[in-house]
Amino acid sequence: MDFALSEEQKDIIKAAREFAEGEFPDYMEESDEKEIFPRALWKKGCELGFVGVFIDEEYGGAGLGYFEDALISEEFWRVDPGCGVSVLGGTFGAQLIQLYGSEEQKRRFLPPLVEGKAIMGSAITEPDAGSDVAGVTTTAVPDKDSYVINGNKMFITNGSVADYVNVLCVTHPEEQDRHRRHSVIVVETDREGFEANKLKGKLGIRASDTAEISLTNVRVPSRNLIGTPGNGFKQFMGFFNVTRVHICSQAVGAAQGAMEKAIEHIKNRKQFGVPLASFQVNQFKIAEMATRIEAGRTLYWRAAWLLDQGVQDHRLIAMAKWFCGEMAVYVANEALQLHGGYGYLREYGVEKYYRDAKILEIYEGAKEIEKLVVARAILGKF
Ligand SMILES: Cc1cc2nc3c(=O)[nH]c(=O)nc-3n(C[C@H](O)[C@H](O)[C@H](O)COP(=O)(O)OP(=O)(O)OC[C@H]3O[C@@H](n4cnc5c(N)ncnc54)[C@H](O)[C@@H]3O)c2cc1C
Repeated sequence: MDFALSEEQKDIIKAAREFAEGEFPDYMEESDEKEIFPRALWKKGCELGFVGVFIDEEYGGAGLGYFEDALISEEFWRVDPGCGVSVLGGTFGAQLIQLYGSEEQKRRFLPPLVEGKAIMGSAITEPDAGSDVAGVTTTAVPDKDSYVINGNKMFITNGSVADYVNVLCVTHPEEQDRHRRHSVIVVETDREGFEANKLKGKLGIRASDTAEISLTNVRVPSRNLIGTPGNGFKQFMGFFNVTRVHICSQAVGAAQGAMEKAIEHIKNRKQFGVPLASFQVNQFKIAEMATRIEAGRTLYWRAAWLLDQGVQDHRLIAMAKWFCGEMAVYVANEALQLHGGYGYLREYGVEKYYRDAKILEIYEGAKEIEKLVVARAILGKF
């Protein structure tokens, strides 16, 4: 493995940084304060080619890797997590279609996501099935050339702004193995019986749209079922292997942004007649923050590089996901601490990283679940 970035990758990082630093400030405060999805910013991100770079060229993407997608995400989250997830999260589900969809499904669903014509979501979680993905109870009953879907989904990113959503449904209730009962079906959100209610009052990433969804007798053509019927659980596990690597990039970006704010502050603020940066205890804090960020980055870059070689190393990905999530929460906390009372004020911009970082320990597999995956891979099942 070669960790040296290519000239193209360096250019991608530079362009992503310029875009985030130039455009996000116009949106980030209002989006956070009022919990508004920054649609115009998402559109600009698509127009400039930042969205869905991992999608193959024949389906409108740049044909780059999940690694390049992660590099962009790091830069976006460094400036503002809420805007970062809103712009890049518009493709949340494309990975599953790219991995398991038919040629026709890829041609129908992928290009609009890159062109800024459609936003996607993925609906797994339910009020009574979060960490226990196989416990999903939403049903899809075959009827002639359709499925009729009934159920409720919770915490769905893009739920009220999406044009279509991958929905995990029970299609094989008779199956003894609870991991073989489900299928993934793409549901267009303008179908009768589909209702989304935006969830307000989130702690962080408030620009990102999150909704609860109810599906009441939603009729969807059978051709919207992705991959093999009964394989939905497995497909989502494959999808999460990809998207969890993306979450690591969010964590590293947020931590980097928070640490940079702290460095600037302690160099400028004086106490006892000297800059805060001259106290060794504060120097140690920066050393620890920087080391943890670098450890997280190295861990997940390896996982991302493997993904682009066609290898889903679920043990390594789970390690990276919990480590990067905890690392981001740790770094954001220390960055705020280094600001003292000023860190507690919105104006200084560091409390936002503290609020935004917390989600990285929760979504797409809470950190405890990731640790279980790692432990099982090492110890076997107990
Ligand atoms: C902002 C936001 C966006 C989200 N976006 C999406 C989305 O787009 N699509 C989607 O489907 N879901 C989404 N989610 C849901 C998210 O993935 C779940 O919240 C998460 O998987 C945890 O599920 P839960 O909330 O039901 O918690 P629970 O499963 O109830 O877990 C609660 C706590 O118990 C722990 N726990 C649970 N089981 C075990 C166990 N066996 N051993 C040890 N500890 C355990 C968990 O780690 C956690 O700390 C989102 C959530 C949020 C907050």
